[in-house]
Amino acid sequence: MSDIVVVGSLNMDMVVNVPHIPAVGETLLATDIHHYAGGKGANQAVAAARLGAKVSMIGRVGKDKNGELLLKNLRDNNIDVSGMEIDEDMSGTAFINVDPLGDNNIVVYPGANNKITIDQIERHRSIIENSKICILQLEIPYNVVKYVVDLCYEKGVKVIFNPAPALEGIEDELIKKTYILVPNETELAMMSGKIEFIMDNIEDLSRKVYSRGCENLIVTLGNKGSLYVKDGCLKYFESKKVKAVDTTAAGDSFVGGLAVGLVEGKSIEESIKFATFVSALAVTKNGAQDSLPNRLEVEEFIN
Ligand code: ATP
Repeated sequence: MSDIVVVGSLNMDMVVNVPHIPAVGETLLATDIHHYAGGKGANQAVAAARLGAKVSMIGRVGKDKNGELLLKNLRDNNIDVSGMEIDEDMSGTAFINVDPLGDNNIVVYPGANNKITIDQIERHRSIIENSKICILQLEIPYNVVKYVVDLCYEKGVKVIFNPAPALEGIEDELIKKTYILVPNETELAMMSGKIEFIMDNIEDLSRKVYSRGCENLIVTLGNKGSLYVKDGCLKYFESKKVKAVDTTAAGDSFVGGLAVGLVEGKSIEESIKFATFVSALAVTKNGAQDSLPNRLEVEEFIN
């Protein structure tokens, strides 16, 4: 039995360093290439596992070398992979160009992530039913996310839903069955129906999204911290002052930290404080999963 189950994506991130971001029709020689295990689902699972929680992952990888590496990475992080399945399609792959200033552009081929079905969820439903918390994002098919939320609601498993990447058309019914909704500013704007937005508006947008039926809403605000909305009350949690070098996976580390706080019996506010420490540490290191801190690092940072 796991504390936390993550139903979500795994990607191999192929990062190439380029002299500049290529223009249409241009061919460039890269100066370096690296591959890293990524995908929002896997990042959040690893974030929670490094903090000491018992974590299971339900997802899908391809019958290829990357699939093997992605599974090995979960195992190396003590994550139960009995809910993982292998697909004929390729493993999810993110192609990331990074220029010398650190700016990037990214193309993601979802591959096996898009092949998760309700049948797969049914085969592993006992993992979900026996978990305290289920974490979901939007890098797998929406109908599967909805099905898992319904299952969790029926079985009393608390859902943390990180609606990333931003998607139009998320239904109120799904929001109402979610225990904590955790969008960033872009995803919040999308869920409020307002794609263009200004920062001053964040409280209005938060109230608007909350009124769609949220039980708890936490909006992550990058280096400004986060905003917790509950029953018409808005409370800010300032970020920790650190020297940020790479904010990749800040949101994923925050979600992992939040879930771990909750399974350990902390209140939502205490869990947000814990997640704020975790995510601050994550931005002090390069990379996605490479930057996710372990429990000891977080405890030392807190004390
Ligand atoms: P990503 O997509 O890169 O994973 P995100 O947009 O989902 O990130 P953010 O809102 O950028 O998530 O960040 C999540 C949390 O990480 C914030 O609420 C904050 O607590 C912490 N954080 C982000 N950037 C910084 C920073 N520069 N310094 C300290 N903490 C930060």
